[in-house]
Amino acid sequence: MASQNKQNGFMAWYFNTNLLLKILIGLVLGIITGLAAGEHILWVSPLGQIFVHLLKMIVMPIIVSTLVLGAASVNPAQLGKTGLKIFVYYILTGAIAVAIGLIAGNIFQPGKGLNLTSGTTDATVDQPSLIQTLINVIPTNFFDALSSGDVLPVIFFSILFGIGLSFLRNSNEPRLRNAGETLYTLFDGAAEIMFLIVRWILQYAPIGVFALIAVVFAKQSASTITSLGMVIVAVYLGLAFHLVVVYGGLLTLNKLSFITFLKGAREAMITAFVTRTSSGTLPVTMRRAENNLGINRKVYSFTLPLGATINMDGTAIYQGVCVIFIGFAIGAPLSFAQQVTVMLTAVLASIGTAGVPGAGAIMLLMALKAVGLPIENGSATAAAYAMILGIDALLDMGRTGLNVTGDLTGTTVVAKSEQALAMDYWDSSASQEPREHK
Ligand code: ASP
Repeated sequence: MASQNKQNGFMAWYFNTNLLLKILIGLVLGIITGLAAGEHILWVSPLGQIFVHLLKMIVMPIIVSTLVLGAASVNPAQLGKTGLKIFVYYILTGAIAVAIGLIAGNIFQPGKGLNLTSGTTDATVDQPSLIQTLINVIPTNFFDALSSGDVLPVIFFSILFGIGLSFLRNSNEPRLRNAGETLYTLFDGAAEIMFLIVRWILQYAPIGVFALIAVVFAKQSASTITSLGMVIVAVYLGLAFHLVVVYGGLLTLNKLSFITFLKGAREAMITAFVTRTSSGTLPVTMRRAENNLGINRKVYSFTLPLGATINMDGTAIYQGVCVIFIGFAIGAPLSFAQQVTVMLTAVLASIGTAGVPGAGAIMLLMALKAVGLPIENGSATAAAYAMILGIDALLDMGRTGLNVTGDLTGTTVVAKSEQALAMDYWDSSASQEPREHK
């Protein structure tokens, strides 16, 4: 953080103030200004877009450089072991998350008594195909995937490339070994530069956060918020429960302090909350993993990009609550069998969806279709779905925050099991500030 090395000169007070404090101030000011000024504050929107652009700019370069480096630094057998562990973790926590969402939905019964009927709206959205999304993980053209920001195909190729590089570095032939080392040093340098750029971008974060939040709150009318209040309460309680019980429990079981974890992860959590994109937050998540949680790059370089794309516990909870809401809203509460179907679909759907704003709302369509509630022009389901879309930004903030926290929890736990966690980051008493090694 900027507080480490004191700056002098232009805007010194700004750069010397704790980054998290600045971000929190931006967040609170954004909420107040958005609610107070309403539509009049929409002109700040470009300031928020600049922040999102800066993050997006760095995402692909950081994924490629750290992933190639990560895969090249481990032997292929170990990569397989880490991969299997994190995959099992992502799937299991995803299933638990949908269950929590469904339970929260059944307890709060949002949408009960709304009695929506056909003909109220014309929301129509394309249904995504799951099989095709899975096949698309293999890029037909790597550079095309890179330039269009398709994370999974880029992960796929970068890992293959990294494994190839690992073989090269361990080759018996001096020429190949030399070439391998040179290329490895190149990627090492590139990754370091990416991290440096992330540090710079974060100095802009408070301004970006202010603008993004002000715009979200300026667009929500008080009446929408009240009528969908139950959905918001159920989703956020579900998120909080998952955070404390599932993540807190997993860390405690692994003898790791939940408080230390939260302190280390908070910048990533807040960035995810305001930007509403796990992929966009990735640079910050990686930085926190290395500098504040002591996770070895060879683990997080692989598990975090993967998690940002396929691990979405927050989204799973959101889907559980929303499907229940829609069932009640149209006067057709979901049966137990339908809820089991939602569980299966929601977990599978989360694998194929990118960590970008609003992606969860598209995934919701898969779950709805699976329980026989497709969105059709003018139908009651479409009306209920449109209501959810009205508050989707607010729900997206919370679920993205949890999505990223889940990636970091899994990565921490797996890193510990692989002896890739620097324990001196965790030994400090929970009341101390997490240190930033770098
Ligand atoms: N915005 C979420 C994310 O990036 C995905 C979603 O819309 O649920 O993780």
